[in-house]
Amino acid sequence: MNKSLFRDITYGMYIVTTKDQKNTNVGCVINTLTQITSEEPTIAISLNHQNYTNQAIKETKKFAISILSEQTKKDVIGTFGYHTSKTLNKFNNHNYEEINNLPIIKENICGYLTCELITHLDCGTHDLIIAKVLDATKETTLPPMTYQYYHTNLKGTSPKNAPTYLTDEPTSNSSPSSSKYRCQLCGYIYDDTTEDIPFDSLPDDWICPLCGAPKNMFQKITE
Ligand code: FE
Repeated sequence: MNKSLFRDITYGMYIVTTKDQKNTNVGCVINTLTQITSEEPTIAISLNHQNYTNQAIKETKKFAISILSEQTKKDVIGTFGYHTSKTLNKFNNHNYEEINNLPIIKENICGYLTCELITHLDCGTHDLIIAKVLDATKETTLPPMTYQYYHTNLKGTSPKNAPTYLTDEPTSNSSPSSSKYRCQLCGYIYDDTTEDIPFDSLPDDWICPLCGAPKNMFQKITE
């Protein structure tokens, strides 16, 4: 099977949010969302079994989807994409609004959907979650962020729990070079040839600009 073909499938960038049983706000980034029907709108998303937001959605049966735009800052994706809501309140430093008891992320988004769980299908590592769209609210006319835009412009990659994760995910502008360092948590690439400060000269308390991982999470790329 030529898995590289999967990279030709297109995706967007979204944050799915809900409440857990303790009424704590939880959420995560997803890139796998499809509209299934139009007349009575339904959507489907894919979430890893181990994902805390997935567990919370099955309990509360309701969730919201914020559609990210090209103007959504990468630190929002870093917080919601590479940490777990089980141990981190991801909403602390980001703009959101409680609407109908759902926390809606409002960080330069295109708009948001509120959804009610219809059913979920166990697909092995992931669940396919099928939901009725209760309401759709457009916030801006900003262009939506595609996964390709995220990969190319924000230099991000899929975390291990993403349905689109590939073990040999290509790096942006990868070439035989020893000037690049990759964050082992989110895949962000620091390239000495395009940065003002060489990686080795960055201070010890420097953190990954995408996910906030410490400097020692970076490894030199030896391709
Ligand atoms: Fe990172």
